[in-house]
Amino acid sequence: MTHKRIAIFGSTGSIGTQALDVIAANPDLFSASILTAQSNDELLIKQALQFKPLVVVIGDEKKYQGVKDALAATNTKVLAGEKALEEAAAMDDYDMMLAAIVGYAGLKPTMQAVQKGKAIGLANKETLVVAGDIVMETALKNKVPVIPVDSEHSAIFQCLVGEGRNKIEKVILTASGGPFLGKKPNFLVNVKRDHALQHPNWSMGAKITIDSATLMNKGLEMIEAKWLFNLEPEQIQVMIHPQSIIHSMVQFEDGSIKAQMGLPDMKLPIQYAMAFPQRIANNFPRYDFKKPNTLTFEEPDIKTFRNLALAMDALNRGGNMPCVLNAANEIAVYAFLRNRIGFLDMTEVVEQTMQKIPFIQKPTLEEYFDSDGEARSFAASLIHM
Ligand code: NDP
Ligand code: MG
Repeated sequence: MTHKRIAIFGSTGSIGTQALDVIAANPDLFSASILTAQSNDELLIKQALQFKPLVVVIGDEKKYQGVKDALAATNTKVLAGEKALEEAAAMDDYDMMLAAIVGYAGLKPTMQAVQKGKAIGLANKETLVVAGDIVMETALKNKVPVIPVDSEHSAIFQCLVGEGRNKIEKVILTASGGPFLGKKPNFLVNVKRDHALQHPNWSMGAKITIDSATLMNKGLEMIEAKWLFNLEPEQIQVMIHPQSIIHSMVQFEDGSIKAQMGLPDMKLPIQYAMAFPQRIANNFPRYDFKKPNTLTFEEPDIKTFRNLALAMDALNRGGNMPCVLNAANEIAVYAFLRNRIGFLDMTEVVEQTMQKIPFIQKPTLEEYFDSDGEARSFAASLIHM
């Protein structure tokens, strides 16, 4: 494998730091050429001193001078602000972008990298939820591989290797069910942020952890799967699998089902995306079939976890609805994290915003940006009431 220069957008997050662990473990294969953070200047500086990237971007412009001073004796160039993310994404000095910013903020730099013809390792699912048609069309046009990092999509991608044009009957996205599996609304109504932040199987950033607790994450992943694998909504099924050992499955038109399995560890799909088409050896813990283990599957309770039903509705309606769903959800999740609204209120905010924002069947990129903005302001107005 030739050496790959990786640009980690969101290097201080859960995915970003694990991607740097993979790079540190494989210095012959990978180097970090661009690192970006929003506000965690301390960690960004530490990472820059260790990995010696060509460029770092700090989103919060107030922190620019501090980062610049700390890296003054190095060859690392320091940029700041939202626009600088796009500027960095447009640079030549990297081979693959690991898109690991959380939320809508990841869309523009990722789009820039796709336009530039750079390979994408995609963790930022919101990019495809918001504007999946345009991102994937542009990727196809520019022959840009978009390799999923999300564990379910990595599983599907791995199941599809070698299948050529063989038709997919359906994909089965597995979901752990989160910390509130089996709970009913009378319990959920009293859930507080600290409880919702305790995921049973995965340690992740705050936003996706809340999305996992509400099952919105699985809804976003259905939309992500539609765009990554060119599927119709009816070809995407969700099954709760609390053990998180089967990461997802593909059923082909002959009825044969392939599954990708392993212990839950995001470093695996991260290194798979970075090294694709090769696999690289590691000493991560292995799944042991000799230990007592039961793998179980059940249907999700979408009457209780209504966020998943709303996401399915957005998936079916298409157009700007997934973008609106995503924007309202981001506002709702951050309000919940600040203890401004309750657990079930998040669903109300998303539902009312989807009813309010006008439907657009085939939005342009500008119209996606506008729908995002309108949905955010409306969702915020519901919370401030
Ligand atoms: P984290 O919250 O841990 O990290 C987010 C990263 O993005 C940080 O580097 C953060 O910087 C940066 N960031 C936050 N807001 C902005 C902004 N407005 N502009 C630019 N940069 C920003 O998130 P995760 O690592 O958990 O998730 C990242 C993405 O990967 C999400 O889309 C998530 O859905 C997806 N994903 C994550 C998984 C996981 O296991 N964590 C699994 C599957 C998918 P700072 O640290 O300075 O705030
Ligand atoms: Mg996932």
